[in-house]
Formats: sequence, C-alpha cells, structure tokens
Amino acid sequence: MTPEHQPLSDFCGVLASFLAARVDPLAIDAAGAIPPAHLDELARLGALSVSLPASHGGAELGLVGATAVVDVIARRDRALATTVGLHLGLGTRALVTHGTAAQHDRWLPSLATGERIAAFSATEPAAGSDLSKIATRITPTATGRLRVDGQKIFVTNGGLAGLFTVAAASPGLGEASAGQSLIVLERSDAGLAIGPEEHKLGLRGSSTTPLFLDAVEVPADRLLGPPGHGQELIGEVLAWGRTIMAAGCAGTAHAALDLARAHVRERKQFGRALAHQPVVRAQLAEMGADLFTMRALIAHTAALEADRAALERASLVTKVIASDLDWQICDRALQLLGGMGYIEHSGAPLLLRDARITRIFEGANDVLLTRLGLLEAQHPKAPSETGTTADAIQQEVHGVVAFLRDALGLSLFRKHAELHWLGRLVAARDAALALVPYARLPEDTAALGLDGAACHWAQHALARIERMVCCALLDRDAPDAEPLAQALLEEHA
Ligand SMILES: Cc1cc2nc3c(=O)[nH]c(=O)nc-3n(C[C@H](O)[C@H](O)[C@H](O)COP(=O)(O)OP(=O)(O)OC[C@H]3O[C@@H](n4cnc5c(N)ncnc54)[C@H](O)[C@@H]3O)c2cc1C
Repeated sequence: MTPEHQPLSDFCGVLASFLAARVDPLAIDAAGAIPPAHLDELARLGALSVSLPASHGGAELGLVGATAVVDVIARRDRALATTVGLHLGLGTRALVTHGTAAQHDRWLPSLATGERIAAFSATEPAAGSDLSKIATRITPTATGRLRVDGQKIFVTNGGLAGLFTVAAASPGLGEASAGQSLIVLERSDAGLAIGPEEHKLGLRGSSTTPLFLDAVEVPADRLLGPPGHGQELIGEVLAWGRTIMAAGCAGTAHAALDLARAHVRERKQFGRALAHQPVVRAQLAEMGADLFTMRALIAHTAALEADRAALERASLVTKVIASDLDWQICDRALQLLGGMGYIEHSGAPLLLRDARITRIFEGANDVLLTRLGLLEAQHPKAPSETGTTADAIQQEVHGVVAFLRDALGLSLFRKHAELHWLGRLVAARDAALALVPYARLPEDTAALGLDGAACHWAQHALARIERMVCCALLDRDAPDAEPLAQALLEEHA
C-alpha cells in the first residue's frame, strides 16, 4: 500500500487487532460455522461495506479496499475472508454497477450494515466451467412478473445470505431471443429453498449450500442490468471476485509464511535452529518472493478497476498465479514444520485445506489459462522496454505467439492444448510485468513511496518467474502424451 492509502492501512490495522483478539480459526473449522458475533463486529467496523457506494453507507474504496480487507482477514481465517470476500465481490458487484437507483435504495443499506449478507449463484449440476449450459430459467408470466425455476449448487454464503444474485437462462426476455440474465432473489421469496450445508475439505466455516428455485415469482424489477446480457455481466462480476479471491490467497500465504518462520526460528536439529540451515533459508526467501509476486499482481489488477476489459484479463492471471502460489507456500510451510505440520493443531493443515479450492472455484485454473491463451492469440501484447528481466520474458512470449499464429493460423483458436500452454506463458509474463515497478533501483522505489527492500524482493521474484517460463517452454518439448491419454481412457472404459 502506498501513502495515499494510509487511512485504509489504519483501518486494516484495526481489523487485524480484532481478528487476533477474537477469531480462532481452528475453532471455526471444528464448529463448521462462523460465530454470528464475528460477522456483526466486522460489519460494525465497516468491513462488509468497504467497497459499497458512500451514498448507501459504504466507504466506496473499490477493489483496492476490498482486496486489502480480504487479505487482512485471510491472514487470520480463510473461511471468514471467503464469507466477506464473496459479499464484497460476486455477491454485491452486479447490484452496485448495474442496479437501478430504486434497487440500490432497496438493498444496499442492509448489505452495508451486514443485516443482509450477499450470495451469487451461477453453478448448477450440469453447468460448472461451462456456464453457457445454465438450465435455471426465467420466464415472463401473463401478469408481467417473472418466474424462476431451477437448481443451483455450491452457493457460498447460501446458509446465511439474505440476497442472491442468480444467473439464469432468459430466452424471450427483453429483445433477446436467447441469452442469460441476472436476477435478484430475496431469501423470503416464496419457492426459494436452501439445501443442507456441504461437508468440505476446507473452508468449513464458510457456508456452501444448494439453492432450489421452484416457481419463484417476483416483480419484473428484480432483473439486474439489461435482459439477455447475463454472460457479460457474469464476466465483469467474476473479474472482481477473482481479484478479491486472490487477495485471500495472499492473506493465507502470509499466515503460512508466519507459521513457518516462527517454527524454524525455534526448532533445533543437527545442533542448530532450522533457520540456520542454508536450504531452509533459501526456501523461506522463495516463499517471501512468491508472496511479493502475489501482492504485486493484486495491486496491479485492483488499480485497473475502471478499465473493464483490462481488469477481466488481469484478473485471470492474478487468480491463477495467486492460487497456485498460495498452494505452494502452504505446502512448503507444512513441510518446514515437519511431522508437526501434519498435526491439525499446528494450524498448517487448515491453511493447506483452505487453500485447495482456490485453484478450482471462480473458474478452474486450467480453464482460465486456456482463456488467457485465447485472449493473447486474439490480441497479442507488444513487448515494452522495462530494463529488467521482464524484457527477456516478454520477448520470449511474443515470439511464441508469433510462432503459433504462423504455424496454426486461425485453427489456433480451436487448439485448446496450445492455448493452455500459451496461457501459462502469458500468466508468467504478466506476473513479471506487475513486478517491474518494484524492481527498479532502491532510490526509485523510495520515490514511489515503496519500501527500499521491495527492489530486492522483486528481483528475486522476477528470477522465480523466469524459471516458471523456462519450465513452460521445456514442457512444450515433452513427447506427445495424446496416445498415452487415449490408452488410459480406453483401459478404464
Ligand atoms: C466451496 C465452493 C464454493 C463455491 N462457491 C460458488 C458460488 O458462490 N457461486 C457459484 O456460482 N459457484 C460456486 N462454486 C462453483 C465453482 O465455481 C465450480 O466448482 C468451478 O467453477 C468448477 O466447476 P465444476 O466444479 O463443475 O468443474 P467441471 O467444470 O466439471 O471441471 C472439473 C475439472 O475439469 C477440468 N476442466 C474442465 N474443463 C476444462 C477445459 N476446458 N480445459 C481444461 N481442463 C478442464 C479442470 O481441471 C476442472 O477443475 C463453488 C464451488 C465450491 C467447491
């Protein structure tokens, strides 16, 4: 955070004090629920309204505010951060950006005070990564109302939410003969029913339920944004949600680093603290550099809030890299704790279990990488001069795009394996570019209001990204795996 964000940083300090004093992550995990008093207190402190409009009780601190709050909460408890992050991101975003004045007046004040928690529901049993297959349907009635029927699954905050933004097919609505729309449903709407809580690997304190919609009839003014444009709106909302989720990854990774650091200082083996083992020290530095990359990407992406297309593209990179690095850092922390890391009360297993879903939800990483490759193939980014290692990475990726386009022409757009591979390179390149502002000389970073040590972290982080690029390039030369995949699939048929 730079000096202009000082009030936000003070606010995060207040949140951190409350979290440290009152929130017990292991107790939340064991109970499988967040004590309501925690959410009440977070609401009182303003965490549930940080990105909501000032006109309706929010602090209007946008994506920068939401990511800062979720980062700080996740550093203490990921289930709580997921609950708050979903409320600030997917749960309220479409309403904030596409709601009418009347919709804002009706729902935003209670969302800002936390009287209502928000949820977002797109996924269905047959529509996960492919949301074009959503079967929940909005049908206009003869009396000008809207009827909603369908079944949703995996609704974060489902058990506590008072307001649901639901994605549904809406053929014939407005001018659109096909397409999807977003509709707001209240928990009290007749025909809306919440299913039982899912039993999950992690995030056990965060509510996840199915949602049943059986002839839910509501007034036509429940639609959000123009009818038939649901897919665009979902894209916008997910860009916010993914960036906020990435901030949760940074918070969890920071908690894992804290845990590992404390342990290696105390634990003695081979006559000295683990912290004096050169291999351990190098691993700690890698964890710190990766965490630096995550935060640089999140800051870069959050600053793009006003540019819809750029935010969408950057959020793909940030989500994938942050969730992958979160997993790696939590795994490394557990390793450094040795056998103790495998024991629940050390806290390391909870961090790892909570981190796992982030590589799947809000878009499975492999799906997002393919999308990223496609966007790059369609609109390649020209390399720029940065005077850092990022230049070589940019040139490399630029060369790969040119090669693929020359070799495959238009058929590249249908070659998912190639696009996925390209997506990996693009993600690494964009992570490198996000590090560039920090990778300057210490005097420059000081002029930008950044910590002088940032330069060293950024250099180390860039070197790690370079390795990521090398691995991706080497994978390209691996023998063709297709016949093996086919053999395996036939064997198990
Ligand atoms: C705890 C939890 C909370 C959630 N919260 C919400 C929520 O609040 N709202 C909501 O709408 N949804 C939510 N989800 C749903 C989540 O977003 C989906 O699970 C996710 O998008 C993946 O969809 P899927 O599970 O159907 O996996 P599938 O689409 O069946 O994919 C399974 C796997 O196949 C692979 N795969 C699929 N397609 C491709 C491809 N084209 N290329 C390469 N690999 C591919 C990937 O490895 C993927 O992980 C939640 C899920 C969980 C578990």
